[in-house]
Parts: sequence; structure tokens; C-alpha cells
Amino acid sequence: MSGGCQATGIGVSRGIAIGRAYRLQRKCFEISERLIEPDQVEQEVARFYHAITSAREKLRTILDKIPEGTRTDVAAFIDTHLLMLDDDPLSETPVEMIHHLHYAAEWALKLQRDALVQVFDEMEDPYLRTRKDDVDHVVNLIQQFLQNSEEEEEALESLRGRIILAKDLTPADTILFRHQGIAGFITEYGGPMSHTAILARSLGIPAVVGLHEAAECLRNGQMLILDGDSGTVIGNADEETLARYGKRISDGEARQQRLRKLIGKPATTRDGLRLRLMANIELTEDIANTRALGADGIGLYRTEFLYMNRAEAPREEEHFQAYRRAVQELAGIPITIRTLDLGADKQLEENPTREAAASNPALGLRAIRLCLKQPQLFIPQLRAILRAAVLGPVQIMLPMISNLDEVRQIKAMISQVERDLEREGVAFARGVPLGGMIEIPAAALAAPAFCRELDFLSIGTNDLVQYTLAIDRVDDEVSYLFNPLHPAVLRLIQMTIEAGRLSNTPVAMCGEMAGDPRYIPLLLGMGLREFSMQPNSLLEAKEILRRCDSVELSRAMERIRERIARGEAPDPLPQIHHSTI
Ligand code: PEP
Ligand code: MG
Repeated sequence: MSGGCQATGIGVSRGIAIGRAYRLQRKCFEISERLIEPDQVEQEVARFYHAITSAREKLRTILDKIPEGTRTDVAAFIDTHLLMLDDDPLSETPVEMIHHLHYAAEWALKLQRDALVQVFDEMEDPYLRTRKDDVDHVVNLIQQFLQNSEEEEEALESLRGRIILAKDLTPADTILFRHQGIAGFITEYGGPMSHTAILARSLGIPAVVGLHEAAECLRNGQMLILDGDSGTVIGNADEETLARYGKRISDGEARQQRLRKLIGKPATTRDGLRLRLMANIELTEDIANTRALGADGIGLYRTEFLYMNRAEAPREEEHFQAYRRAVQELAGIPITIRTLDLGADKQLEENPTREAAASNPALGLRAIRLCLKQPQLFIPQLRAILRAAVLGPVQIMLPMISNLDEVRQIKAMISQVERDLEREGVAFARGVPLGGMIEIPAAALAAPAFCRELDFLSIGTNDLVQYTLAIDRVDDEVSYLFNPLHPAVLRLIQMTIEAGRLSNTPVAMCGEMAGDPRYIPLLLGMGLREFSMQPNSLLEAKEILRRCDSVELSRAMERIRERIARGEAPDPLPQIHHSTI
């Protein structure tokens, strides 16, 4: 028993934190219409500019506080907000309203905010709509200064070791709090792809988001346990629970020390089968860590990050610079670049889009469908990938494929891009391997056909489980049904691996299942040879695989295969438990 209040949200950044809660009380700016006298205009404009200057200074101070060696993307979040402070729509239009309409500064800013948000809401492109959050974050900062309600610095000084409890956090908050040594944070809103979640992972802060009303039972000052792996938060835990989690922290540290001894050793089973262990990354900055851990490659480079937190889609040059850097830093280690997978869960909560408002966003216009519908979003990415492929081994991977026609259309686009680049005299690589993600049951069932059309496949179990079992992967009400061991899911995985084996098409897995110690021996027994996972799971996976015997596992699998074929859950492999740490 925990002995206190327990709530579950979405664990978006791994690790356990124990610390006292600090509830962040943000003033809710209820701004009502207020007019000023004509002779107050100059003073009001000065007051507005002063607030803008103070907001700018505050953001610059935060920039200075970004720890050495922290990713440049972290600074980019703040730079975006600084640029917005200089943009006319935020800095000049309210001034015009003060001049011409005699509005008070707060009221002018509020009206301008509402107008901007409405424009963003009406935009077609999901990535452009992410800008709405940025507008709110920057406007709130200016309002804080206008209303002299900036949080007391001294209050924030006592944050070392605390767990922040907030409705939502801005990227700037996250950076600032990390600088002040917080142990973790919990928010009521936000999803795994929110800016704040991405930053938490980048900065290594354990975090749980999407706790909703459950967060109400957590109190300021209360001792909290935050489990960023499972998304669990426990308030006022009893001694026994505290001791148990405390031990998990120290065990985890000791384990990490032990696992580091595996760096440089091959991922080979006891009977000498060499496997490929690769990493999933979201930022080019993750590559250094991935290399340090000795990954055999990048099995999934999620490129959505390039599209987030900005006003315009990245141009070809920006794509190219990101991929060039990745390929060069990898120095010959292969990378699989997944083309953009925006839509559905990739903008949930913090960015309510037209798709998210649709009744079935996960079945809507996302990933490859969006690319085919909006080639202007996709072609620059394709061009950049082909250009970067001159510099090292690159593969292209298409998310969410469901039929061969999609693949053929993409192939035609690639051929066109090749012709264009050739005509323009731009250096590019021909014949870049093209693969597809098996994330939809239909694609798994049709895997033999995809094997004929593509150079490789990669099983995305996060979506495959979602679509097979009809459970929204980010809805915690149904998360108890998210079961990769469901016989239907296992059959689809088995069919895909088998199609690859029969046609000599490499099949990898890059969904979370591939890095989960509970499933690794089973996947090996099913014939999976390429595993791609979060970098911090690599060494643990290697340890498990090195303890497995593939021949023994294949033998044990015969019975399991029969069970799966009958629609029964697999019985445990003895080796799974033996080899699980
Ligand atoms: C997956 O669906 O398993 C996958 C790896 O893709 P993502 O999690 O980015 O949707
Ligand atoms: Mg997916």
C-alpha cells in the first residue's frame, strides 16, 4: 500500500524522483475591458514597452542559465519566444490600439492575443497551429510584467530537490526549474509530444504529464514519489513505499554502473548469433550519447521535432543541416530517417488541431497520408535526405503505410526529386534504401507485398498495438488494455518477421516493445534480429540478449506459436524469467 494519494498520468521522461511538492500558483489573468484617458496614452505606451523589455530581459537571463553542454534546441525554444517579442503583431499592434482606441495595455494585448490565436486555430497545417501555445506563453509573460505579478525569485530559490506541480509549464519554465535543481515535474495538461515533455527528456528530468483532476489530491509541501517510467505519482507515501522507491533509485544507479561494462561488447547471444541493437532518437544531439553507448545504428530518427515550436515548416536547408550533422557525427554508422509523422497523438492536448478535434484523429490525416496530401511539406524533407545520403549510410522510412499505392506514390515522388536535383546540379545519393513502418494491422497482414516493394520493414508496436486492440495509446482510461502480448498483436508481429525471412527483407522493430526487457527474449525467439529502442534501454537489452540462447528459444517458441495461432496468450518462456534482470 502506498499509504497516500496515488494518481496516474503519462510518464514522459523516465526516472524516479522523490521530493516535496511545490505547487506553482500561476495567476489567471482575468482581463476586462479598460479604457484610458487621452492624456494617459504616452504613459500607457511606455508601460507596455517597459513590460516587453522586462520580458525580454527575463528570457535572456534564462538563456544564460542553460547549462553548458545542454542542447542547442533547448536554447531554440527561448529564442523563438524572444523573436516573438520583437515581432510587430505582439510589440506594435497593441501600441496602435493604445494610441487609436485608448485601450489600456493589458486589454490591447488581450485582444491582440485573441486575434492571433484565432488565426492560428484556422490554419490548415498542424505544425503552424502549434504556434498558438507560443503566443500564450509570451503574452502571459508580458501580462505578468504589466500586472507586476512576476513570481518571486526568492520563492523559486528553494526549488532544489522539489517536484513541481503545475497546470502546464512553458519551455522557459522547464529550463529555469532545471537550473534550480528540481527533482521532477508533474503537469495536469500536456501529452508525450508536448514541447515540455520533449524538453524534459532532453534535459533528463523525470516527468509525468496529463494528470488532470487527479493532481488535485496532491498538496503543496507534501512528500511525493514521481515514477516517470510508469506515470505514477504517489503523495504522502508511507515509510515502506518511500523506502521501496528509494531503493529503486539506488538500485538503478548501481545497475547503470554495472551495465556500462557492456559498452564495446557485441550484442551476441550465448550461441553466437549477432544481433543489431539500434537507437531511437528525436534530436541530432542524442547522437553523441548513442555513440557513447555503442549502438549499431539509429533505427528510428523521428523528425517531427524539426516541425515543432515554430511558425513555418522547416525549409530544405534546415532539414539538410540537421541530417548532415547527424550523418557526419555518426561517421559511418547507419541512420534510418523517418519522414514526418505529424498528426493525431503528435500534437495532442497542447495543440488542439482540426485533426485532434475530429472524432477519430488517430485514423485521420497523419504521417504518410499528410505527406501525400501536402507535398510542399514533404518534398523539402525528401530532397534534404537524398542530399545528406551522399555523406554516409542513410535509409528512408515511411510511417503508417497501409497500402502499396502509398508506397508507389512516394517512390514516384522520390524519382521526381532525383530528377530535379540532377537537373539543378545538386549532389545527392541515388538508390537510398526505402523502408516502411508496420504499424497498422493491414500492413502486417500484407507484409509479403510490402517486402516486394520495399528494402526493409520496421515494426512500430506503439501504433500496431493501438490499432490492433482499438485503444488510444495516449488515453489513460484504456491504457490497461495496451498489451503487446495479446495473441492478435503477436500474430501480426510474427507474420511480419516471417514475411521478411522468406523474402530476405530485413525486419526491425522500433516500437517501445523492442526495448522492453519483458519482451526481448520472446521477440528473439520469434526471429527478430534488429531491435531499435530509446538509447537508455540499449545496455539493458544487450545484457538480456547476451544471456539468451537463440536455439533454445526457437525450440521453446514452437509451443508458444501454437498457442498464439489458437488465439491464446503465450505462456512464459522459462528463459524470459531466467534472463530478465
Ligand atoms: C511506433 O508506433 O511504434 C513508433 C515507433 O512510432 P511513434 O511512436 O513515433 O508513433
Ligand atoms: Mg508510430
